[in-house]
Amino acid sequence: MTFKTDREFAQHLDTSDPLARYRDLFNHPKHHDGNPVIYLCGNSLGLQPKSVRAYVEQELADWEAHGVEGHFRAKHPWMPYHENLTRATARLVGAQAQEVVVMNSLTVNLHLLMVSFYRPTPQRYKILIEANAFPSDQYAVKSQISFHGYDPADAFLELPLREGEVTHRMADIADMLEREGSQIALVLLGGVNYYTGQFFDLGQISTLAHKQGCVVGYDLAHAAGNVPLQLHDWDADFAAWCSYKYLNSGPGSLAGCFVHERHADRQDLPRFAGWWGHDKHTRFKMGPDFQAIPGAEGWQLSNPPILPMAALRASMDIFDEAGMEALREKSIQLTNYLAFLVDEIGPEKISYITPHEVESRGCQLSLVVASEGKRVYDAISERGVVCDWREPDVIRVAPVPLYNSYSDIYHFVEILKSVL
Ligand SMILES: *Cc1c(COP(=O)(O)O)cnc(C)c1O
Repeated sequence: MTFKTDREFAQHLDTSDPLARYRDLFNHPKHHDGNPVIYLCGNSLGLQPKSVRAYVEQELADWEAHGVEGHFRAKHPWMPYHENLTRATARLVGAQAQEVVVMNSLTVNLHLLMVSFYRPTPQRYKILIEANAFPSDQYAVKSQISFHGYDPADAFLELPLREGEVTHRMADIADMLEREGSQIALVLLGGVNYYTGQFFDLGQISTLAHKQGCVVGYDLAHAAGNVPLQLHDWDADFAAWCSYKYLNSGPGSLAGCFVHERHADRQDLPRFAGWWGHDKHTRFKMGPDFQAIPGAEGWQLSNPPILPMAALRASMDIFDEAGMEALREKSIQLTNYLAFLVDEIGPEKISYITPHEVESRGCQLSLVVASEGKRVYDAISERGVVCDWREPDVIRVAPVPLYNSYSDIYHFVEILKSVL
């Protein structure tokens, strides 16, 4: 599509947007002038679906009415509550039902999965991660390495970047795996990097890493709900993601977890166990010996918090209705439009470090202002734009297809131009 720079063009795109009605299903925060903010921060915390309140209130009412009996008598009984999320979650990440579960939070899940899937030996003990991975992932990985008695200075392996580049080239990833693969126990990559917005070719990476005998795990915090995923076909061994970013389930809400079918029945894998991962038929016999549920559910530890899970249900119902394919189609167009308007301003003032190829990015663009980036960020925030600043010099903006419009992008760029 050829884009145009005028305001009517943005309005025209909004009028013909088949997903336009979803915008109204969300609560849009207000700026101090009383107008809605331009919210471009769904990569950090998604907006609240209006339906969340009713979903959570249902559980409060059932708790009020039934007390402990709510485990069986609630409208959506709490005992199997997480199962209400299984099908929509599986569809979202391209998995079979038994390959996914919703539990805990993201970093917790990464640790639990590494307990099972990072099995270092003196010959093969390294973990390969992208450059500038999210800090929590770096801490988690380094602490796992130390926990097993290895030295992070040696075993923590970052994909190198070329001089003057901030994103990775597939050929370099392939080279690295070819060269160091025999010493790499685990490849753990962010599916979409939080800083640059680069979306990796996860299928190809799995294939290359498996060829070298490495285990492959993905952190999909910035990918789930942003880009279409096919975790089963891409052959990841495991994956984890949070649900408060693109999945709009509320601050600190629950995380998802994927374990490939081929590991479903593996009782040989070490794992940290808890009663919610125990065989459902015998859980309440309260016996002393752990028997894992086959599949991802076997990694659960605790009975889950129902209130945040209710919020996640509200959000997943919307996602499932809209469908990831339609969302991706709009997302590509929305972000291309943003890229077009930014390019129009000109690289001497502003550019972006996110890959320019559509298949290598999701909705986020990481903007770099030629000078005084922080001042520009502060000024656009003051004028009612919600996005974020990431040291040293990036303004992350993420137009989300569920609730952002083309007019949002148009107004955002107008504000940006006025402060540059
Ligand atoms: C947001 C994010 C996290 C946050 O972890 P929590 O355990 O949910 O606090 C971790 N890793 C990545 C890559 C993220 O983007």
